[in-house]
Amino acid sequence: TDATASATAKGRVLVVGATGFIGQFVTEASLNSGHPTYILVRPSSATANPSKTKIIKTFQAKGAIVLHGVINENELMEKLLKEHEIETVISAVGGEKILDQLSLIHAINAVGTIKRFLPSEFGHDVDRSNPVQPGLNMYKEKRLIRRSIEQLGLPYTYICCNSVASWPYHDNNHPSLALPPHDQIPIYGDGSVKAYFVAGADIGKFTMKTVDDLRTLDKLVHFRPSCNFYNMNELAALWEMKIERSIPRVTVTEDDLLSAAAENCIPQSVVASFTHDIFIKGCQVNFSIDGPHEVEVSSLYPEEPFISLDDCFNDFAAKLREEKGKETAPRPVVEPLPITATCA
Ligand code: NDP
Repeated sequence: TDATASATAKGRVLVVGATGFIGQFVTEASLNSGHPTYILVRPSSATANPSKTKIIKTFQAKGAIVLHGVINENELMEKLLKEHEIETVISAVGGEKILDQLSLIHAINAVGTIKRFLPSEFGHDVDRSNPVQPGLNMYKEKRLIRRSIEQLGLPYTYICCNSVASWPYHDNNHPSLALPPHDQIPIYGDGSVKAYFVAGADIGKFTMKTVDDLRTLDKLVHFRPSCNFYNMNELAALWEMKIERSIPRVTVTEDDLLSAAAENCIPQSVVASFTHDIFIKGCQVNFSIDGPHEVEVSSLYPEEPFISLDDCFNDFAAKLREEKGKETAPRPVVEPLPITATCA
């Protein structure tokens, strides 16, 4: 059929880190885009952790093909890439595993047929930003990965998607899994420095759009959706509007963020250093995208809408009401009999 023909025309994608926070969005989007999607699963992940097993099973049900291995095993990776004729490799390994990608890069180089490699970036332009430690160490590792890719001449795309759409807690590296605050609103500094917020699903969707696009070959792709450009004060006002009440604000000063970073607890202190970089130093907004090797994603796909932060906050407010409902619902004195369920 036509559908099969167009599906097979799309190159095979291998996602590394598919069970992770960002990797799940990318895998979902790869499956939706019709690319044959392979996911690399660490043997430990497949057996030891029930929640990861569930994620893997869900992706398999949607057509993902599981390959077992770790990227540090150079020869195995070379074999897998060759055997399965992978064309695109997208890595979303976590911040503490950035250098594991060095062996993967060498395997990609040895195979020689990979058309695009997207290393684990998914944040800021690490060559431009200089967060305080310990965040800086992660950036140094991401820079080293970029230089290794460029030295070997591998075809690449670097995804700089800015902040994931959610409340930017300074001590939580997967913030979209937490609801915005409902007792106090922490405001970083004077709350006036802006940032870009991108829904996880859009990080995945637009990442996948870049892989077949020649305009993004050997380029850095910045995500700057104009509809999702907010500072902390605006974010607080948006959230208050959604939950229809005002919440006291507390200032988290620059010094507070620097002390949280200096505590050097991983990963919270890494997040504190990025929060400082974003909301005090303005690392997402203090440059214009005008270099020869960079593009902005909305200018590439002007017809393609972004999920608005407004909508994301609607979802958070609905979840908050649901949780509150559970808390305040009168507890039954006796366990209801199963028959009571039939009235639904
Ligand atoms: P996670 O820690 O959630 O997930 C990491 C994934 O990589 C897991 O699937 C893990 O497998 C897998 N993995 C780790 N090491 C290896 C290895 N050696 N071989 C194969 N697989 C491996 O990562 P995040 O989603 O937090 O981070 C991904 C990227 O996104 C990072 O670059 C990070 O900096 C960035 N990021 C950006 C955010 C933003 O707001 N813009 C927010 C969060 C992250 P297993 O399941 O077995 O552990």
